[in-house]
Amino acid sequence: MGFSRQDTEVSEPGLLPQMLLETLASLDGESVILALGEVPIFSTAGVESLGILRENRIQSPELLAIVRFVRRTGSHQKGQIEIPRGPIGEGRHQFTFKVLPLVKDDLVLVLVSDESEAQRVHDVRRDFVANISHELKTPIGALSLLSEAVLGAKDDPESVTKFATRMQSEAKRLTDLVQEIINLSRVQDFDPLQLPQEVSIGYVIREAMDQCEISAQSRGISVKYAEPSNVLVLGDRDQLIMAMHNLIENAINYSPEDTKVSISTMIKDKLVSILVTDQGIGISQSNQERIFERFYRVDPARSRQTGGTGLGLSIVKHIANKHGGEVTLWSVENVGSTFSIRLPIHSFKSEKE
Ligand code: ADP
Repeated sequence: MGFSRQDTEVSEPGLLPQMLLETLASLDGESVILALGEVPIFSTAGVESLGILRENRIQSPELLAIVRFVRRTGSHQKGQIEIPRGPIGEGRHQFTFKVLPLVKDDLVLVLVSDESEAQRVHDVRRDFVANISHELKTPIGALSLLSEAVLGAKDDPESVTKFATRMQSEAKRLTDLVQEIINLSRVQDFDPLQLPQEVSIGYVIREAMDQCEISAQSRGISVKYAEPSNVLVLGDRDQLIMAMHNLIENAINYSPEDTKVSISTMIKDKLVSILVTDQGIGISQSNQERIFERFYRVDPARSRQTGGTGLGLSIVKHIANKHGGEVTLWSVENVGSTFSIRLPIHSFKSEKE
C-alpha cells in the first residue's frame, strides 16, 4: 500500500518504511529525505511552500553542503539557516535544522523547524511593547487632563462642550491605535506562506478600494483603478487587502482635497507591482528612509489630525516582506508619491477581474 497523505510528497514510496513516513508527517516541523545526488524522495508540504525545496532541489547551498558532509561522514549535524522568502525584498525564513543519515540506502533525513523565527518574533514583540506603552501614554494623559478640565468648567457649558469634543477625538485615537496594534501583532504572528492561498490581485485592489470609499468621498478625492488584473499570488488575502488599504488610505489622507489617487499594476520578471499614486504633499528624501519604521511620522500633528497611528506603513512593509516581496517608494515634495508593492507572481487567471 502506498503512502497516501495529501500533504506529503513521496516519489518512490516503496523505498521507505510506512511507519517512518507516518511519523515524519505527524511531526510539528517539516522534513525531507534525500537519496544519492540529493534527490528528494519524500517531503512534507511545508518544505516547498517555505522555500527550502524548489523545483525538486534544496535551495540553500549551505544546507546542501551539510547534507553532503553527513552522507560522507555518517555524523549528525544541527544548526540554523536563513532562506530568502522570495526573489526580492528583505523577507527571510529562519530555520533550525537537524540532518542525520538513515542507515538504509544512503539516505539522509533533514528535519526543519522554525524555532528561530519564534525567537525573533518574541524579540520584536518585546521592543514593540516598549514603543506601544509610550504611544498609549499620550492619548491617555490627554484624556486624564481633559476630564479634569471638564470638572473644573462644569458651570461653563461652552467649555464643557469643547473639552468633551476633544475627549471624543482622543478616545477615537486610542481606539484606532489599539486596532492597529492588534493588526500588526496578527500579521507578525501569522506566516502567510506557511499554508498559502491563491490570491487574486484584482480582488485585493477592489476590496481595499471599497474599504476606503467613505474617506475618499469625504475629502472629494477620486480613487481610480483602470485596468483589471488577472494575476494570482500566493499568500494571505486579508493581509494583502490590509496592506493595500493602508496605502490607499494614506494616499487620501496626505493629499489636498479634490485630487486624484490612481492604482495600477505592472508585470515584469515574474513579479507584479501594484502602484498607488497620489498628487499629495510628498515626502522629503531624508524622511523617505524612515517612514517605514514603527510610529515614525513626518508631521505628528497632521498624522494626529487624520487619525494616523504611525503603524500603517510598517504593517505594509511587514506584509510585503512576508510574502517574499517588497514595498518601494518614489516621492517628490508638493508633487506626490507612488508606493509600490512588488510580489512574486504565482499564476494567471483565465479571466481578468
Ligand atoms: P500614519 O498612521 O501616521 O499615516 P504610516 O505608517 O501609515 O502612519 O505613515 C507614516 C508617515 O509617512 C505618515 O505619518 C506620513 O508622514 C508619511 N506618509 C505616508 N504615506 C504618505 C503619502 N502617501 N504622502 C505623504 N506622506 C505620507
